[in-house]
Amino acid sequence: MEKSKKTLLINALRFIQSGEAESSSPQEILTWSIKNFQQDIALSCSFGAPEGLVLLDMMHRIDPKSRVFVLDTGRMHEAAYELIDRVRERYDKDVEVIVPHAPDVEEMLGRVGMNGFYESIENRKFCCRIRKVEPMNRYLAGLDAWVTGLRREQNVTRESTPKIEIDRGHGDMVKVNPIADWTHDQVMSYVEAHNVPINRLHTEGYPTVGCAPCTRAIGPGDDIRAGRWWWENPETRECGLHEIGEEQGSGI
Ligand code: SF4
Repeated sequence: MEKSKKTLLINALRFIQSGEAESSSPQEILTWSIKNFQQDIALSCSFGAPEGLVLLDMMHRIDPKSRVFVLDTGRMHEAAYELIDRVRERYDKDVEVIVPHAPDVEEMLGRVGMNGFYESIENRKFCCRIRKVEPMNRYLAGLDAWVTGLRREQNVTRESTPKIEIDRGHGDMVKVNPIADWTHDQVMSYVEAHNVPINRLHTEGYPTVGCAPCTRAIGPGDDIRAGRWWWENPETRECGLHEIGEEQGSGI
């Protein structure tokens, strides 16, 4: 029998509040999540950073039918598109590709131009909202839970990321961050040990690869997200996908 959304949330809160979630390995968390949410959970993978590919590999080993989606903003690096097809072939897996609402993109381009995001934080967030946040919200509305590759050491904005949380901003769904406490070295060790396909730009100075006009290579010693929206301060360097209304463990 299908579990109700409320039952699923109660299960998640128990998992969080008992401390079990924080002490579990990524594979244990993913096994728990897939068992609970079945086909109503999906991995958000940018095909730009190795974290998403590591989680895709883990989820595929647990359940070959596990779901993965990518937001195709229309401004992605060619290397990300190549990787999507490589992953499809390697895992014989369907990758769900989500695109922005065309009339919204047309209206934005008419207002701020093709590359208006360089001109102000407002324009940049406007573009991220149209090309990423709105399509993401639309897609997540059909799920009970989602999986992300967020890690605490990635940025000041991610330092307190829990392994599982209730995502208030997306209608009280469950957000699963199985490798929140992993280091970059742990991610790359997994990639090597399991021969996980990753974005070719990762070895060319791009720790993460976002949209082509908003990502550049970094130098030795730079913060790993220094190449994302490099013209802004670190505190604003988020696209809005992970900013809204999350909280851990409190009432439903
Ligand atoms: S990362 Fe840049 S191009 Fe991509 S959605 Fe955000 S502002 Fe637009």
